[in-house]
Amino acid sequence: MHFSVLTLFPEMFDALFNHSIFKRALAQNVISADIYNIRDFAIGKHHVTDDKPYGGGSGMVLKPDPIVGAIKFAKKWYPNALTLLLTPQGKTFDQQMAREFSQENALLLICGRYEGVDERIALDHTDMEISIGNFVLTGGEPAAMIIMDAVSRLIPGVLGADDAAQLDSFSDGLLEHAQYTRPENFDDHHVPDILLSGHHQNISDWRRESSLVRTLLKHPDLFDSITLTSEDLLILRKWEKTIEKIIGNQSSCGAASLSSTGKNR
Ligand code: SAM
Repeated sequence: MHFSVLTLFPEMFDALFNHSIFKRALAQNVISADIYNIRDFAIGKHHVTDDKPYGGGSGMVLKPDPIVGAIKFAKKWYPNALTLLLTPQGKTFDQQMAREFSQENALLLICGRYEGVDERIALDHTDMEISIGNFVLTGGEPAAMIIMDAVSRLIPGVLGADDAAQLDSFSDGLLEHAQYTRPENFDDHHVPDILLSGHHQNISDWRRESSLVRTLLKHPDLFDSITLTSEDLLILRKWEKTIEKIIGNQSSCGAASLSSTGKNR
């Protein structure tokens, strides 16, 4: 996988390239990256990369010509690179997209700044507009780094153990199970006995249950897009009974009548 990044702030990527897993993957040539300064592709003595918006209004807009120059230059080496424009108006990045991007040979990421990028870049020079969420950043660089990080860890050889990413949250549609490390007892919370038992099947069953219950509590919408096994359904039924019991007990204590009058707010 090769990443080409177009930015006005190349030095921001030092943080990603010089640390941890990404640094090692670059050193081992499992992934590669080129950062292009959009300013280098701006013509004229002052290398101007932005200008006032047509129609008036505050702020500046990134000019199209330096960006197109940078895209053409980057594509000399990776002509088929999937070209992504980072914008809060794009399709929201998620694990499924990370998986799809990780199958590509190269990604070209365009980082906007100021009020954004001239619309003609999205129209004619971009394969996809990508957002990392419904909020507005100052620039596309953190978004590009997030995508590069999430995509690269899915590329074989980047993580130490090749199956590590397969167990991550969202990989099979569920959240990952709870994790514990030493010490066994911390702040009066004990590591569940099963995890200390050395019994692989019981540990695996416990982890599946933990995954299902955490997904139910934290992200129930994920169940809409996965198919559960019959074993999964049995686990959820067990919890359904527990929940019904709790609700039954609470109702008999008068909680239901309080809630119907709104007094428990
Ligand atoms: N005026 C633009 C709008 O309202 O859509 C926002 C421009 S933003 C201040 C500057 C740049 O940051 C964008 O061009 C984009 O590259 C990047 N950016 C901001 N929020 C982002 C997000 N949620 N996802 C991806 N990129 C984002």
